[in-house]
Amino acid sequence: MSTVLAYLEDTYKLIDKAHVEYIANDERGYYCVLDSTVFYPQGGGQPSDVGTIEAKGVHLTIAFVSFVDGVARHYGDFSSVSLEKGEEVTLYVDEAPRMQNAKAHTAGHLMYTIVESLDKNLIAVKGYHFPDGSYVEFQGSPSFENTETFIAEINTKISEALNEATSVEASLIMPEELAARWSNIPNNLPLGKPLRVVTIGNLHPTPCGGTHLKSLQELKSVVVTKAKRQKGNLKISYKFE
Ligand SMILES: [Zn+2]
Repeated sequence: MSTVLAYLEDTYKLIDKAHVEYIANDERGYYCVLDSTVFYPQGGGQPSDVGTIEAKGVHLTIAFVSFVDGVARHYGDFSSVSLEKGEEVTLYVDEAPRMQNAKAHTAGHLMYTIVESLDKNLIAVKGYHFPDGSYVEFQGSPSFENTETFIAEINTKISEALNEATSVEASLIMPEELAARWSNIPNNLPLGKPLRVVTIGNLHPTPCGGTHLKSLQELKSVVVTKAKRQKGNLKISYKFE
């Protein structure tokens, strides 16, 4: 089985029902696997959601969710309550960290898509969309000559997008279609199966499995603070509000 990732449908849906598949434990402790989840499991440079799961009237704190072999593992004190397969539970995702993560992720997404469109040699390969020290790393040799000028150019484009309160859309398309719309895609995309892409306004679509805001209206500011070479990649740091 695999867990249906319900958070992909709607970033703003924080409460949902799901059914128990099984309880197990690993080096992190006890965890519960469900048929579907609104909890974002840590990955793709985005922190795990936190919250509670109510099972048989007991609220269990969920401090971490991981994604292993197609299933989301919700870690909590599941040894204290006996749950059978098929038991219905209610999931409650904490709103403040979820929205903070969606903001960080959307800000990073906006920044890296603009960078890719300004410099076609650069492809975003890694993101770190945590509240402190957010950055995106790019592969390829930058074609800009002056770093400060390039940063200013990125920030201008970001402000323009924010002023237009641009929409953020997530959709499923085939990788072949993505390649037809934008030639600079990462070379490790699995072909032949639908891919989730995120499109901000009229910028190019980019593959992404994170949680996003539905409009840039919810971001006050996004500012690139520095760009520097690191281990062959270009690392661009940003701040957001
Ligand atoms: Zn994204």
